[in-house]
Amino acid sequence: MAHRIYNFSAGPAILPEDVLKQAQEEMLDYQGSGMSVMEMSHRSKTYDEIFTGAQADLRKLLDIGDDYTILFLQGGANLQFSMVPLNLMPPKNKADYIVTGSWAKKAVKEAKRVGAVNIAGSTEEENFTRLPKQNELKLDVDSSYVHFTSNNTIFGTQYNTEPEVGDVPLVCDASSDMLHKKIDVNKYGFIYAGAQKNMGPAGCTLIIIRNDLLERSNETLHTYLNYKVHAEKNSLYNTPPSYTVYIMGLVYKWLLNLGGLDVMYQMNKDKAAILYDYIDGSEGFYKGTVVNKEDRSLMNVTFRLPSEELDKKFIAEAAGKGFSGLKGHRSVGGLRASIYNAFPKKGVEDLVEFMKDFQKNN
Ligand code: PMP
Repeated sequence: MAHRIYNFSAGPAILPEDVLKQAQEEMLDYQGSGMSVMEMSHRSKTYDEIFTGAQADLRKLLDIGDDYTILFLQGGANLQFSMVPLNLMPPKNKADYIVTGSWAKKAVKEAKRVGAVNIAGSTEEENFTRLPKQNELKLDVDSSYVHFTSNNTIFGTQYNTEPEVGDVPLVCDASSDMLHKKIDVNKYGFIYAGAQKNMGPAGCTLIIIRNDLLERSNETLHTYLNYKVHAEKNSLYNTPPSYTVYIMGLVYKWLLNLGGLDVMYQMNKDKAAILYDYIDGSEGFYKGTVVNKEDRSLMNVTFRLPSEELDKKFIAEAAGKGFSGLKGHRSVGGLRASIYNAFPKKGVEDLVEFMKDFQKNN
């Protein structure tokens, strides 16, 4: 039996054990093909079924209509920070960005290389400890799109509902909460998400683009950077991240078998509540870092102890008990428990038991 610990890493992150076991079983001989998926031509019939099957299952999970195209690309969410403005900003060459954390700032940095960026809202002055409210946003109705980050992996904030942006296409970096619940894709023009948190291993970026926006991609763009090219080739313009897409497909099947995204959402809410309730009831020993409770992330629970020394002691003792990856991002410190879709409720309960003991002893 493999020895598995509780992996609270922010990403690459824990995957469903059933998925890993199936991948293990199919490793040497994928369904009678005599080879593993990673050894297979991406143009073969067997692989085509894996690839189009993953797209079809994702459509089922999110009820994605034919007016949207699904792409599986490489380069991480970071490449999307550039591809989004390169493709979607023209011809007006201006876009709105809501800045809620480090990743949003990086998206802004790349967008500024392409055109004019209007910071429609930012909580940077408050060190991103909350999300801007709708009435704080200064949106430009003539903007090419509005970009926001649905879940701020580092700061532990998450949008409950999308910002309202009228008829301007809404663009979302959903890297760290994709598929944690069912969203209405029709509210979005464009969604992107790296696979390595809720969907699979690193190496693939999922993109969902409304078809009319493909017409914005200019022919002068470098070929790989052009969404229209990828859409016309069904993401097979070049060699796709074939093994990662295979695992993503298994994760989509795992979600469907679980009962879909409404079931997943309830599980995520239950798990997060166990942790937040304990933090809030700890008489100030543990403190959540997000100031507005409605902005708290279900995926990345960020908190602190009374001192940095205790933070360090906590992380060291927790690691000794098999709780890994609890250190907050190096840019903010503190603690962070990432409890993505695949993270088991039992692991959260056990962490709370550990937190109780630690509080008692310190
Ligand atoms: N956006 C968000 C919200 C993220 O959490 C991350 C990765 N932690 C990124 C973007 C960057 O993703 P990648 O490393 O795949 O480029």
